Amino acid sequence: MTEAKTISILGSTGSIGMQTLQVLDELDSEYNIAYLTTNTKIDLLYPQIEKYHPVGIAISNEAAYVEFKKKYSFNGRILCGEEGVCEAAAHGQNDLVLQALVGFSGVKPTLAALHNGRNIALANKETLVSAGSIVTEAARKNSAALIAVDSEHSAILQCLIGETTQSVDKIILTASGGPFFNTPVEDFGSLTVKAALDHPNWTMGSKITIDSATMMNKGFEIIEAFWLFGIPGKRIDVLIHPQSIVHSLVQFVDGSVKAQLGPTDMRLPISYALTFPRRLEYSFPKLDLIAINTLEFFKPDYDKFPCLRLAYEALETGGTAMAVLNAANEVAVKAFLSEQISFVDIPRAIESALKKINIIQNPTIEQIESTDAETRNFTRQFIGNLYHNSIS
Ligand code: MG
Repeated sequence: MTEAKTISILGSTGSIGMQTLQVLDELDSEYNIAYLTTNTKIDLLYPQIEKYHPVGIAISNEAAYVEFKKKYSFNGRILCGEEGVCEAAAHGQNDLVLQALVGFSGVKPTLAALHNGRNIALANKETLVSAGSIVTEAARKNSAALIAVDSEHSAILQCLIGETTQSVDKIILTASGGPFFNTPVEDFGSLTVKAALDHPNWTMGSKITIDSATMMNKGFEIIEAFWLFGIPGKRIDVLIHPQSIVHSLVQFVDGSVKAQLGPTDMRLPISYALTFPRRLEYSFPKLDLIAINTLEFFKPDYDKFPCLRLAYEALETGGTAMAVLNAANEVAVKAFLSEQISFVDIPRAIESALKKINIIQNPTIEQIESTDAETRNFTRQFIGNLYHNSIS
């Protein structure tokens, strides 16, 4: 029996946050919870407080914070805003911070935790996409671990154990292809939000589900793999694998390939990140290859999914290009979800931002933040003009 560890979950009311709590239920006495945080979902947060008794909570949305204080009573600390989430992240008792925030909002809390030497289990890929150089540098300087929760990167991490970077020929990220893998490109202009939210294999939040449909999610994962494993984009391939059983592969210089397989259940990579490098026994369903029967692999279609190409290009350009990619995508996805723009406008908006916004190499965190804000403004304008012009 090892000593109990203390964990904080940033974004405990989201899909990954809730699955993390399910994993912790299995681990039982192995973990104590320090902080739980939410953006607005206070009605989901409160039952978690009652069940897990954290020392404190943070609510990023100010109106939700006010409402929580009116509606509920809690004796622990109640923090508010981004500063509150940062304080929860940096909390001195955290052995591990599971960061499952959405989008760019993950950057500052991650840096706050790392600067205080806290280890991070990272489920929010936008943090590495936007600020990969600064985040990986902060982890290195403070000897803090940065462990991927993403199923593909968890697979690569498992394949790389006992290997050296020099022996890696390439990383092969698998992708389900999303809901539109078989949809003809001519139909892309009329794709609905409902169809895009209907992912064949994984149940996830709405932002990442749209990113999967455009394949920007895989584009982000290419960048995430670059920062986590130090393999250049040229040596990171994408392979469509509709069954989502092979979670990713590593090909070595001798031609040998290692892959990690498992059921499509995020609780597995979550649990591996929590107990890394140990493995614990779980009651979750095990992989049944006989029932699955067939594993298929296809080449990705870069014409149908331009987001994939844009991600490779942003990584190649370097500097703040990746922050532009992320910010333009966040704005465009939001506009698509609220039915302001069509599915094919998402890559159009991003490509336009990548062409127009000035790219800074070796940026500071302030330069990343100002690029993020500038890109959001530009993309909102681009979207505003898109239909305004065509109607008049
Ligand atoms: Mg993934």
